[in-house]
Amino acid sequence: MKLADRIARLTESETLQMAKLSRSLKAEGRDIIDLSLGEPDFDTPAFIKDAAKKAIDEGYTKYTPVAGYLDLREAIVKKLKRDNGLDYTPEQIVVSTGAKQSIANVVMVLVNPGDEVIIPAPYWVSYREIVKLAEGTFNVVATSIENEFKLTPTQLEAAITPKTKLFIFSSPCNPTGTLYSRAELQALAEVFYRHPDIYIISDEIYEYINFVGHHESIAQFEKLKDRVIVVNGCSKGYAMTGWRIGYTASSIEIARSCDKMQGQITSGTCAVSQRAALTAISSPLTETDRMRKAFLKRRDLLLAGLKNIKGIRSNNPEGAFYVFPDVSYFFGKSYGTYTIKTADDLCMYLIYEAGVSVVTGNAFGNPDCIRISYATSEEKLTEALKRLSVALEKLK
Ligand code: PMP
Ligand code: GLU
Repeated sequence: MKLADRIARLTESETLQMAKLSRSLKAEGRDIIDLSLGEPDFDTPAFIKDAAKKAIDEGYTKYTPVAGYLDLREAIVKKLKRDNGLDYTPEQIVVSTGAKQSIANVVMVLVNPGDEVIIPAPYWVSYREIVKLAEGTFNVVATSIENEFKLTPTQLEAAITPKTKLFIFSSPCNPTGTLYSRAELQALAEVFYRHPDIYIISDEIYEYINFVGHHESIAQFEKLKDRVIVVNGCSKGYAMTGWRIGYTASSIEIARSCDKMQGQITSGTCAVSQRAALTAISSPLTETDRMRKAFLKRRDLLLAGLKNIKGIRSNNPEGAFYVFPDVSYFFGKSYGTYTIKTADDLCMYLIYEAGVSVVTGNAFGNPDCIRISYATSEEKLTEALKRLSVALEKLK
């Protein structure tokens, strides 16, 4: 069979790949603690599920408007005002089948072959591959653990070329949990003021998992707002990963183009999910807060445990549900038939020897680190820490 070059060029999502390996080892009867997938372990809150059941009974079973039901887009407009102080109209909102699709819509709409896209590393795996699909070139800018993996304005300025079309970042960040403060975003915004042809995808899917205070969006800077595409959705904050609801807030021109793109690929997302999302987005954040508090306890537990493992140098995440420690200390060490040369080797060692699944930093553009997701119970995290400690100590 001769498949298109496009699919040969595309790399499989390493986060999903690692989750697949964990599942298949579990199916073989192995005891694996899965800290690879970025998915809340909580069930979707009951009041949201009830809204979906009611929607089915009320006949929400038909095609929906491509950009989403108007009342859902109105609720998103209110949410953006309530939580972010941002003013949009429903015409500026496009609901999609997940933040992932929203990002793909925008990249397809903006990036021509050869256009450059600046992505600070560590970055979320799919940014790179979606840009590849659009035949853009990505310009990866490395950040360091010493600076909590934050991009500085000087680094941004130096990365910009006449071909730069788009900048993609997430705050809170996957995979590092890093948050940008208002002042840090403003400093980046000032660089963008000098380069009026660059668009910005601000991936805010972890907005509600923020341990230090108020979420800040780069769209708040009025002079930049028309060039910012805010991406958000229900997956993380409401534990609704399987419902597939994401959205963009952007200029009307970009929104119309995303609608056009989506209208040829998926159409409007699932009617029942949209009704559930309407209830989620228009309700108080009580359940979301409960989950955030649980994530914070888990983060503290994990960071305290990692501190006691020699060779692990951890960052200090302030949001999302990941820690992204530097593990390069173990490179060159061996145990039995295992020799650890890279973070990829270490992940394989940990899954087979310790029964703990994590993701290599290579997937996120940083070869010295691994990503540990703590979206799992305290019991499992405690057991995983014990296993990691034993397995890592064996490496000499
Ligand atoms: N952006 C980031 C940074 C993510 O971690 C994820 C999680 N998969 C997504 C986007 C996509 O989320 P969704 O489930 O809404 O497609
Ligand atoms: N965003 C999650 C992660 O990074 C889900 C997996 C994916 O969609 O790639 O693990």
